[in-house]
Amino acid sequence: MPPKTDIPIPPGGVIGILGGGQLGRMTGLAAGRLGYSAHIFAPEADTPAGQVAAAVTQAKYTDTAALKAFAASVDAVTLEFENVPVSALETLAALVPMRPGAACLAAAQDRLVEKHFLESVGAGVAPYQVVDSADDIRRALQSLGTPVIVKTRRFGYDGKGQVRVETADEADAAWRDLGEAPSIAEGFIAFEREISVIAARDIHGRTAAYPPVENIHENHILRTTLAPAQNLGPLAAEAEAMAMRAMDALDMVGLLAVEMFVTPNGRLLANEMAPRPHNSGHWTMDAAATCQFEQLTRAVMGLPLGDPSPTAMAEMHNLLGDEADSWPELLADPGVALHLYGKAEARPGRKMGHWNRRTGPVPNSNGG
Ligand code: AMP
Repeated sequence: MPPKTDIPIPPGGVIGILGGGQLGRMTGLAAGRLGYSAHIFAPEADTPAGQVAAAVTQAKYTDTAALKAFAASVDAVTLEFENVPVSALETLAALVPMRPGAACLAAAQDRLVEKHFLESVGAGVAPYQVVDSADDIRRALQSLGTPVIVKTRRFGYDGKGQVRVETADEADAAWRDLGEAPSIAEGFIAFEREISVIAARDIHGRTAAYPPVENIHENHILRTTLAPAQNLGPLAAEAEAMAMRAMDALDMVGLLAVEMFVTPNGRLLANEMAPRPHNSGHWTMDAAATCQFEQLTRAVMGLPLGDPSPTAMAEMHNLLGDEADSWPELLADPGVALHLYGKAEARPGRKMGHWNRRTGPVPNSNGG
C-alpha cells in the first residue's frame, strides 16, 4: 500500500531528512520548535544536522536496507541536498510520504533537464548548448559569443564544475578541468543583478512565496542577501509566479528556490533551481513571519503553510572559512543574529555560519 498522503502528521511525529548539512540542521531545529523530532540520513559521520537530531542513520544513499529501516522510523521524508540518487527517493516513496518526490529531484539534478523544464513552464533562460567535447566548447563560442560559461550537467555547486572560457585556445584545458563530464555551455549574461525566490507548496497544492531577494556572489559563492529585493517593479510578482508554476508542474510538496538574473533590459532569466531550503532564504529566520525551515516542515508534515511576509528589511551575510572566528564580535553586536553550523574544520570558502541583521521597516510592499 502506498503511504497515505493527505493527512497532517501531528506534533510528536518524526521528520526524516536526507542529507546532513546546515540546511538539515536548521530544518531539524525548526521542526523541533513545532514538537517534531528529526532523523537524519547521511553517509558522513558527525554532521551539522546529525549533531542536533534525535536520531541518525549513517549509511550510503544506495543502501536499500538502511533506507527501508529509515522509512519505518519516520512519518515523512524530505531532503536538504540534491545529489541524492533518484532511486533512493523512489525506494522511500513506496513506504512513506516523500516530499519533494523523485520527479522534482530529477528535474533539478541535471542542468540540461532543468533548462528544458524551466522553459516548459515559461521561464526565460540564458542561451545554451549541450557540450560533450572540447569541439563543442569551440562551437559554443561561435554560436553563443564570448565568453561562455561551461557547467557540468551534474554535481556542480558554489562554482565547482564551472569554467569561464574566453577563446577557442582555452577549450581543451576547460574540457579537461571539467573532467570531460557531460556539460552545457551558456552565453554570458551581463546581468544587472541576481535575485532568487523561494516558494512553498503544501499537500493540497496551496502555494506561498517569499518576496524575491537580491544576492551578491563572490567567487561563485553567495556572500550577501538583501531582503526583500528593492525596486523590482512587476518583476517581483513575475518571479514569484514562475516559482509557483514550476511547483505546480511538478506537483511538488516542499520548497523550491529559483535563482534568476535580471538583465539590463529588465527581463528575468532563470538560472538554477533547488527543491529544498536555500542559502538565500536564511534571512527569513530573523525577518519573516515564518522562516523557510518552518515552512518546509509545515509542508512536509501536511500542516497549513505559514505567512511568508517579511517583518523587516534584512541582510544576511555568510561566514566563510575562518570568518566564523569573529563570533565573539558578532555576538557582542545587539543587531546581529548569529547562526553557526557546528562544523569543526574551517576550510577556505566553506560555509561555517551566517548572520542576519534587520535593517529597517518593510517599505510599502506593493512598491516591489
Ligand atoms: P550557478 O552555479 O549556475 O548558480 O552559477 C554561479 C554563479 O556564476 C551565478 O550566481 C552567477 O553569478 C555566475 N554565472 C553563472 N552562469 C552565468 C552566466 N550564464 N552568465 C553570467 N554569469 C553567470
